[in-house]
Amino acid sequence: MEKIKMITPLVEMDGDEMTRILWKMIKDELLLPFIDLKTEYYDLGLEHRNETDDQVTFDSANATKKYGVAVKCATITPNAARMEEYDLKQMWKSPNGTIRAILDGTVFRAPITVKGIEPCVKNWKKPITIARHAYGDVYKASEMKIPAAGKCELVYTAKDGTETRELIHEFTEAGIIQGQHNLNDSIESFARSCFNYALDTNQDLWFATKDTISKKYDHTFKDIFQEIYEKEYDEKFKAAGIEYFYTLIDDAVARIMKAEGGFIWACKNYDGDVMSDMVSSAFGSLAMMTSVLVSPEGYYEYEAAHGTVQRHYYKHLKGEETSTNSVATIFAWTGALRKRGELDHLPELSTFADKLEKACLSTIESGKMTKDLALITTLEQPTVLNSENFIKAIRETLEELL
Ligand code: NAP
Ligand code: MG
Repeated sequence: MEKIKMITPLVEMDGDEMTRILWKMIKDELLLPFIDLKTEYYDLGLEHRNETDDQVTFDSANATKKYGVAVKCATITPNAARMEEYDLKQMWKSPNGTIRAILDGTVFRAPITVKGIEPCVKNWKKPITIARHAYGDVYKASEMKIPAAGKCELVYTAKDGTETRELIHEFTEAGIIQGQHNLNDSIESFARSCFNYALDTNQDLWFATKDTISKKYDHTFKDIFQEIYEKEYDEKFKAAGIEYFYTLIDDAVARIMKAEGGFIWACKNYDGDVMSDMVSSAFGSLAMMTSVLVSPEGYYEYEAAHGTVQRHYYKHLKGEETSTNSVATIFAWTGALRKRGELDHLPELSTFADKLEKACLSTIESGKMTKDLALITTLEQPTVLNSENFIKAIRETLEELL
């Protein structure tokens, strides 16, 4: 078979630990034999980030702006223990945070559903995608403990010195207080990313906040979404046969439980944090979850939703066998290749991505899987494979499909 040609390179962001091991296996077994793979390689492994004073992370994000599509391996976010382990010059920031700040986007996470790994909500038949706004609110809040009686106010001082005040509470005893903010620009790009992603994946979009209680803060989110929808997206949604609707978060939660799935649920930062954990565990596992950062300008960065699986890596280093699930990392590659295929009009590349995904699912459905899935599957007597043999089993299925 002749290898599939590419035109524009993918931005390849290599990473750390067990996922770095999987990364190489995936390329060697599942990609390089079939594709004339073109990538611009950035090594985001912690050692190289440290050597380059983290410049490599910035370069990789800027390359994503240049080429449009990136695929990222999981990376270590350094903490005190990692400072020592890797003898770091500095506690470098989270690469995901750096990349997100440069690309300014929204993270979409969707479960990868397969027969034999059943959601615990029995009427969920299709994936539910969570779109999480990744800026502000409680994550950028300032807080105070109020020791005793006194007055608390919000004070806005304009550039010309004029003040606007709003009473928060006239304390008569000790208490607590918190100040949150968000930016119209950030909410607007959140809205556009969600509308674009809905069109891209042909799914309805739900958005919910607590605007009945938060009449200015949450209501602004609702208004910005509505205004952008009416001005820029209404016709496009109608043409695509999909729907946008806003509802109160309480109503959304109740409806989600009764729904079939197959839609996108846009969430404010905190709601998205909490609800994505609920949705992903109800669907099965983080290793069966896709994750993509979509910028308002239409740049895409595909990754796995899980981390570097450190515990498995230490076993691997000791020469012990591991059974690490590579599906989410494979789907990061297929997502990026499919998008590259669409943008460069290379249908063979997109079809290859579809087949590789199908090969992953068929392999699991045939009972061959890694340990994490074997523990939760409804299939009887699954065959538990090690990391390498699972990827080899996927290759066998793929070769049958091609
Ligand atoms: P993790 O790597 O997601 O792993 C947590 C546990 O989940 C593992 O120990 C394993 O459980 C299970 N697991 C996760 N992915 C799996 C897979 N593909 N196959 C099988 N089991 C899987 O999270 P962590 O241990 O908290 O973090 C490790 C490192 O990853 C940290 O340095 C963190 O900074 C980084 N991280 C990076 C990203 C990212 O780049 N997007 C995201 C999160 C964390 P068992 O051990 O029970 O088998
Ligand atoms: Mg969370």
